[in-house]
Amino acid sequence: MGKATGFMEYKREVPKERSPKERIKDWQEFKNKFSEEAAKIQGARCMECGIPFCHSGLEIGGMVSGCPVNNLIPEWNDLIYKNKWEEAVRRLLKTNNFPEFTGRVCPAPCEGSCTVGLNDPAVTIKANEYQIIEKAFAEGWIQPEPPEKRTGKSAAVVGSGPAGLAAADQLNKLGHKVTVYERQDRIGGLLVYGIPNMKLDKEKVLKRRLKLMEAEGVEFITGTEIGSDLSLEELQRGFDAVVLTGGATKPRDLEVPGRAAEGVHFAVDYLKANTKRILGDQNEDYISAEAKDVIVIGGGDTGTDCVATAIRQGAKTVNQFEIMPKSPDERQADNPWPEWPKTLKVDYGQEEAIELFGSDPREFLIMTKDILTAENDSGQKAVTGVRTVKINWEKDENGRFTPVEKAGTEKVWSADLILIAMGFLGPEETLIESSGLEQDNRSNIKADYGDFKTNLKGVFAAGDMRRGQSLVVNAIDEGRKAAREVDQYLQPPFTEPIYGK
Ligand SMILES: Cc1cc2nc3c(=O)[nH]c(=O)nc-3n(C[C@H](O)[C@H](O)[C@H](O)COP(=O)(O)OP(=O)(O)OC[C@H]3O[C@@H](n4cnc5c(N)ncnc54)[C@H](O)[C@@H]3O)c2cc1C
Ligand code: SF4
Repeated sequence: MGKATGFMEYKREVPKERSPKERIKDWQEFKNKFSEEAAKIQGARCMECGIPFCHSGLEIGGMVSGCPVNNLIPEWNDLIYKNKWEEAVRRLLKTNNFPEFTGRVCPAPCEGSCTVGLNDPAVTIKANEYQIIEKAFAEGWIQPEPPEKRTGKSAAVVGSGPAGLAAADQLNKLGHKVTVYERQDRIGGLLVYGIPNMKLDKEKVLKRRLKLMEAEGVEFITGTEIGSDLSLEELQRGFDAVVLTGGATKPRDLEVPGRAAEGVHFAVDYLKANTKRILGDQNEDYISAEAKDVIVIGGGDTGTDCVATAIRQGAKTVNQFEIMPKSPDERQADNPWPEWPKTLKVDYGQEEAIELFGSDPREFLIMTKDILTAENDSGQKAVTGVRTVKINWEKDENGRFTPVEKAGTEKVWSADLILIAMGFLGPEETLIESSGLEQDNRSNIKADYGDFKTNLKGVFAAGDMRRGQSLVVNAIDEGRKAAREVDQYLQPPFTEPIYGK
């Protein structure tokens, strides 16, 4: 334990973010690093608990509590307090292939279950993770470490999101020859074409990791969709094992009159096109919010990314609709520690809207009735507004909560651009329909967490494609664990990959 009394002496402090006023002018990341001294002090706040819930990764109350990749948090907190940064990064890389991604975008379930958090603000675990890995890159401690020996076995990974990258990294380090197939023109899955650049820089952060993996021997093939350009059967013939990590990107649609009008888009199409533009493409599918009244339908993180993107594009107004009630500011009695705290979050997009427009863009307990349209100059029906009604959630005769409209609350909102961010319904069908893969009752690929085996021999599934839309850290966890199963299938018994010399 770094400092026995650290948690009593020091207060939680997080690195100062770039101010909303400044950051909305560009697409650069808004998070900053600590000074080294500040990070050490925050490390000293860790109590190194006998039972550290922060690294448990348990599911409590249907939600993850603690770190899903079981990061050895108390150990690296102690090491940074003692100035042993190189040891800290080795410890961190034992459990997490990509701390530079999670250190930026993870919602940090670890902090929700931190014991200090019982009666004081939690230890800054996520910021410490970010600090360790960025220092390691800056010091040159992260260098390509290709495996010393090759096994002669090969694996294909389908999909290059965090689950696919983690599986590829693990399998490659174990000496198998790995080829990653991606249908998009860039590698990264939702790390590149979902999460916006201001949260995760594509050139400086994602590319840095991909270059390392390439130097270590992983092969990436873009523009190839398995199930159409190449069949799964062909992959099975060409490789000793296949890992499917194609994500769960089928969006939930808004089924109301006017949906087909020009100016209504799915959130990820909008975000992807914007990222392409930032990366220098002159893509025709680019959607601009400049000088427009923008309505984002969906109050979750994807909706927030749309709010922040529309603001940077120069939107005239931005409103965000959420059908669920506003969460409380504090934990409630039925949501105790160490559960994930279901409290109201004012995220970066909302902070920026407050700065620019003077109020939180979110409207809670609101339902879209229809999209209003008018003919535009090219004779197309284009969106002009949205009609909404306020609702309450009430139990029906079967005891199920259903939305009930509140009389007299109808409202018409002016809109030129509507972005649908209402969640996802599972994996897309092309691969599944063409290959005879079994699905579970939520339409994800059927494979148990633990062995990750599909109904097809030598074919494994992991990440969102197996569990439904989730988090980067869960995808990394699944990719790692699926790789272990693949390795056991290829060359039992399993051996741990060795990081560092
Ligand atoms: C807008 C948005 C923002 C998000 N922000 C966060 C965040 O801040 N923090 C967080 O933790 N999580 C976030 N998430 C969730 C997180 O990004 C996902 O849970 C995670 O990326 C899932 O990883 P994955 O590897 O399973 O799939 P994905 O990242 O979806 O990658 C799957 C890849 O497979 C490819 N593919 C699919 N089918 C085929 C095929 N047949 N052949 C070849 N390639 C194929 C796809 O093109 C895609 O590139 C966000 C999600 C969205 C949509
Ligand atoms: S990966 Fe996420 S949950 Fe795990 S330590 Fe990092 S921030 Fe916490």
